[in-house]
Amino acid sequence: MSSIVLFGPPGAGKGTQAERILGATGLPQVSTGDMLRAAVKAGTETGLAAKKFMDAGQLVPDTVIIDLIRDRIQEPDAINGVMFDGFPRTVPQAEALSSITPVSHVIAIEVPDERIVDRICGRYSCAGCGNVYHDLFNPAPKGGCPCGSWEEKRRADDNESTVKSRLSAYHEQTSPLANWYREKGIFHSIDGDRAIDEITSDILRSLGH
Ligand code: AMP
Repeated sequence: MSSIVLFGPPGAGKGTQAERILGATGLPQVSTGDMLRAAVKAGTETGLAAKKFMDAGQLVPDTVIIDLIRDRIQEPDAINGVMFDGFPRTVPQAEALSSITPVSHVIAIEVPDERIVDRICGRYSCAGCGNVYHDLFNPAPKGGCPCGSWEEKRRADDNESTVKSRLSAYHEQTSPLANWYREKGIFHSIDGDRAIDEITSDILRSLGH
């Protein structure tokens, strides 16, 4: 059993790539952002604790996130490991993770800051199936999402001012993790500012597929 970490700034394409490599890895995608948004929507205690940080573009406290992951990793579908998307985001989260499940690869999708705002502010997804689209780079087909239950959804925190806070949080709290994983010899850097298919091929190659 070993897990994969998809690492990178907000808007790097972690969620999009996670969906594309799902079939090859056979590992379920575990997105702490998606889990927190579901908790906010359901009005749970975790959701209430997380909402103000998410709205401000700040990281949710480590204890909240680590508890979520500890529970998620107990689910039957996580028996062979999972593909983490947006976790870990701090050194304490990575330290906790190392005692929860082994990690075989950290795939860093690198995108320069100046490209992030455009990438995030144009993105939307299909509420029916979760497919991610972008106004300019990857628009949904004319008739809507091929899944058939088309409903366009945009994230409340995908706006310019929140994106700037999310980027600061990334540089201050998350990017130091790159060295932490580099020293462990499991860090793979991928140029994320290219065509979606090229990025997917590079990721699969790094994973040995
Ligand atoms: P994401 O969908 O990964 O962009 O996450 C959306 C928001 O959820 C972030 O801006 C944070 O407020 C929060 N969040 C998601 N994952 C984490 C994490 N691992 N640690 C702390 N906060 C997180």
